[in-house]
Amino acid sequence: MSKTIYCWNGCIDEDTDYYVIMSPIVIGDEEFMYCPQCNEAWEPDYEQIPHGPPHKQRMEGISRYIEEKEQD
Ligand SMILES: [Zn+2]
Repeated sequence: MSKTIYCWNGCIDEDTDYYVIMSPIVIGDEEFMYCPQCNEAWEPDYEQIPHGPPHKQRMEGISRYIEEKEQD
């Protein structure tokens, strides 16, 4: 069970229009979380400062919630 970790630099993935999800890589014999977009890697136990969702994504979430409420 692994937590999704987004790029610490807040890179946006153009395909998903959301933060780039970092992938684990091994450098030497240590594991790091790596962002292919800005080409940076962080230690996996680095404490993540939560990003807010990108504005567009948040607006979509809110409108979806309102639509669901109206169907009740
Ligand atoms: Zn990045």
